[in-house]
Amino acid sequence: MTASYVVIGDGIAGSSAAETLREEAPDAEITVITEEGEALYNRILIKEYAKGKLPEAPISIHDESWYVDRDIDLRLNTVVTNIDPDGHTVSTHEGETIGYDKLLVATGGTPTQLPVDNSDADGIHHFWTFQDARNIREHIEDADSATIVGAGLLGVDLAAICGEQEVEANYLMRGDCWWRYALTEEGAEIMHDAMRERGVTPVFQSGVDHFETDDEGHVEATIDPNGERFESDFVGIAIGLNFNVELLQDLDIEQDDGVVVDEYMRTSLDDVFAAGDLTRYYDTILGEYAQNGSWGSAKEQGTIAAKNMITPESDAFRWVSSYSITHFDFPFLSFGHPTIGDEYVSRSYGDNEWRRVAIKDGKVVGGVLIGDLAPQSGYKELMREEIPVGDQTETLLNEEFEADDIAPVQEQQQ
Ligand SMILES: Cc1cc2nc3c(=O)[nH]c(=O)nc-3n(C[C@H](O)[C@H](O)[C@H](O)COP(=O)(O)OP(=O)(O)OC[C@H]3O[C@@H](n4cnc5c(N)ncnc54)[C@H](O)[C@@H]3O)c2cc1C
Repeated sequence: MTASYVVIGDGIAGSSAAETLREEAPDAEITVITEEGEALYNRILIKEYAKGKLPEAPISIHDESWYVDRDIDLRLNTVVTNIDPDGHTVSTHEGETIGYDKLLVATGGTPTQLPVDNSDADGIHHFWTFQDARNIREHIEDADSATIVGAGLLGVDLAAICGEQEVEANYLMRGDCWWRYALTEEGAEIMHDAMRERGVTPVFQSGVDHFETDDEGHVEATIDPNGERFESDFVGIAIGLNFNVELLQDLDIEQDDGVVVDEYMRTSLDDVFAAGDLTRYYDTILGEYAQNGSWGSAKEQGTIAAKNMITPESDAFRWVSSYSITHFDFPFLSFGHPTIGDEYVSRSYGDNEWRRVAIKDGKVVGGVLIGDLAPQSGYKELMREEIPVGDQTETLLNEEFEADDIAPVQEQQQ
């Protein structure tokens, strides 16, 4: 009998799963269902579109013919509203029922809204889809001023869009510095200076109490918890992601701030797999459950899920992620899990060069590099090979660090 696979979500996790399913199961029935009106595009590049630096065409990865050529049934503009694990079916918002032998949930997330007055006013933007990027670009090109909220990797995208579009912005942050969980103030100051040079002013110990609107309901000002008023007709918010798990709510499927999967991307429900941003996966490198919101990780999880949907336990997920941004005149990269260390070492190497490495249980688990990204390969090798660093934590800060700089810990103890 022909096997049937249903994939919910055509982001990078769902799409790479569909690609692998077709490669490894040439006769299978494959259906990909997505709420969005367009097939897979490069979510990483939509910020470059919003900056005005790229046209639409290079953002797209697959057009509809890609699915037709592979005999994959792509359903655009279709929301899966229900999963029946006993009947092995999913239902769509149009009332259609589609059967599956194996199901992949790759539904990603939706940006979190601020729970304050007027947070849905006209002129307030969140940033996840290509359509969001189109709306942002259209608005920012005509905006006089902007306010950005959210001191993380997506917030800085919004700040950089303002800088590139030459719109002066206030960037409101809750703590003392940008991405305070992964950077020290010293490292963050490099980012703050780069923002200031582009007309984006970081405002610390701030946030949002509420928004004020004009008579037409368009945002006029952001009022922070200190009572300060930041006038702007454009507001961009990036304070986190809510995983798209509504359709799992009534199911007996383990969740723990994300859908729990093992290293084979299996959920606790028979024949139901999950991949991408929404998972809490068993990290075979860390030896514990972890989360990661990045393109490369989501792609690999989709591929691994597909392999295990076809042949159980055929391939385990093992991945060192990285996330780089290119907004300023120096490169920036975070890798692994830069905020879960029990120990951190950091150093500056000049005006625009800085590094911080996170260590847990004597092993490198992640870090951030600003300026020179070359040492990343050494750190990633240490992570992949699970090499203990013992008391050589300062060696990790060698300017031209390579994995070989770390002496075997046994040898060192003799
Ligand atoms: C602006 C921006 C910049 C980024 N920059 C970087 C970067 O530089 N580097 C990096 O590594 N990562 C970056 N990321 C993160 C990266 O894009 C994500 O980690 C990755 O795209 C997650 O892929 P996914 O397939 O898990 O989820 P998604 O891409 O979110 O895809 C999920 C899909 O499922 C659909 N869906 C949800 N619910 C349903 C339903 N019920 N029925 C049908 N369809 C449904 C959604 O509409 C969506 O299309 C960025 C993200 C954004 C938004």
